[in-house]
Order: sequence, then structure tokens, then C-alpha cells
Amino acid sequence: MDGLPPLREVIAKHELAAKKSLGQNFLCDLNLTSRIARFAGSLDGVTVVEIGPGPGGLTRALLFEGAKRVLAIEMDERAIPALDEVSEHYNGKLEVILGDALKTDIQNQVSGRVKIIANLPYNVATMLLLNWLENDPWPAWFESLTLMFQKEVAERIVAKPSTKAYGRLSVISQWRCDCQIAFTVDRANFMPPPKVTSAIIHMVPKALAADAPSLKTLSSITMAAFNQRRKMLRASLKNTLPNAIEFLTDLDIDPTLRADALCVEDYLKIATKYETL
Ligand code: SAM
Repeated sequence: MDGLPPLREVIAKHELAAKKSLGQNFLCDLNLTSRIARFAGSLDGVTVVEIGPGPGGLTRALLFEGAKRVLAIEMDERAIPALDEVSEHYNGKLEVILGDALKTDIQNQVSGRVKIIANLPYNVATMLLLNWLENDPWPAWFESLTLMFQKEVAERIVAKPSTKAYGRLSVISQWRCDCQIAFTVDRANFMPPPKVTSAIIHMVPKALAADAPSLKTLSSITMAAFNQRRKMLRASLKNTLPNAIEFLTDLDIDPTLRADALCVEDYLKIATKYETL
């Protein structure tokens, strides 16, 4: 596709045997990685932040699809020589930071139009997403997130009320972004195959209402509600809201409902009222 060697050859040449501790499951099909890159929309004039480029399968697709620059953060130093070859092939448009994405200040190293596109290491995927979603100010420094998760996590992100998958991650994700599952990816596409199916999620930040509550308030209310999701709200929110029954009834929310019955708007109403106390 791009004149560089096939990924399986790259992995063999640089002895990149996958390490479980780093959540390494490599994509070796450049048609698939291009499909992921294209789902993020045009990359013309866009800086892409990629977490965990590994041997460079997705990285190559991002550059091939026209990214202006790719800033990749990789924790495994064994991958650096393989990525240097990609960078050379694309005239230095790829820059790699060797380090832990959870501890790297990415925002201050990018400017202009930025998209985050990554096949995330599953062990830190949700934490990375929450860090991005919790960005203050909002909308954040990136214009979209196109991310591979375990399918079960992707389903939690887009889950609707009254479903098993609906929870705090759904409320926070859907409050801050329009979220969709782009497509699922069978385990057979990875080397080595993970235990479960994966899915690509595409998220586009949306503007918040002028009276939106703080993320801290919404977080603590959703955490209290969903940590005891089998209990009625009057019990699960007893220690969070002053006089929970009256507080909820005033908002036309039935205090005998359980956490999963409330929509995102209901949680926003609770958090907004809480902040006026
Ligand atoms: N992008 C490659 C692909 O699609 O084939 C590799 C994806 S693999 C699922 C995850 C990658 O993230 C690995 O290369 C791993 O070394 C890297 N990684 C794991 N933890 C990381 C962290 N905290 N910060 C940065 N990279 C990390």
C-alpha cells in the first residue's frame, strides 16, 4: 500500500513479540487500519495524536490518508526503530514520544486541528478516555476521538437508559460527545488475537449548555447512583443529596427509580440543582 514492508515482516525484523503487560494486540491488515483512519474523516491539515503505535500499522494508515503530522506516544522502546523507519518514509511527519500516555502532557505539544485516533492498550483505555472527556475547558483541544476498545466498553459508552451497559461512562461520554460505534473488529484481525471482539468508537465533542454543571458534581452524583445501581435513588443518593426524596421529587424524578432509569438530562438536572444549594 505505502511501499513499506508488510507489518508481519516489521514485527519479525524488530522482534516485537507482543507483551501482555502492555496490552499489545497488533493490527496487521493495512486495509483495516485505513478503514479506521478514514472513519475519522479527512485528515488534510490535521495533526493526529496516536496512543500506542506499536509496530505502526495504524500510524502508517494515518500518514497514508494524509495527516499533516502524527504525534505518537509509545511506552515500548522496542517499537522505536520500526517507527523511525515510518517517520523517515514520511519525511519526518511522524514524531514519537517514548513514554506513558497517562503521564504525558499531550495538549501542550499540539496546535491547530487535532484528532485523536488510536487502537488503545485495553488496560488503560477507559482511564485515557475519561481523562480526555474530563478536559476543562470544553470543547477540548481535540475535534474528535476515533478509538478502538473492547466491544463491551464501546457498548457502555453508547448505552441507553434501562440497559445493563448503561452507567457512569455512558452519562459522561454522551453528555460531552456525540458517540457512535463505527464498526466491530473480529479478534482474528489481531496478532495475537485478544480474548474478545473489539469495536471502533467515534466521538465528537459537543458544546455544553450555558448552565451546565461542573464535571466534578456530575461525576460524584453518577458515581454514587451507579455504585449502588440495584438500590432506589432515594437510598443510593441518600448521602450525596440533602433530603434526597424531596430533592428528586422537586425535579419530577421518582425517588423510587434506580440509577439506570434516568437519562443524561436527568443527571444534569440533579447536578445543576445541587450546585445552586
Ligand atoms: N497501534 C498498534 C496497532 O494497532 O497494531 C498497537 C496497538 S496495541 C493494542 C497498544 C499499544 O499501546 C502497544 O504498542 C503498547 O506498547 C502501547 N502502550 C501500552 N500502554 C501504554 C501507555 N500507557 N502509554 C503509551 N503506550 C502504551
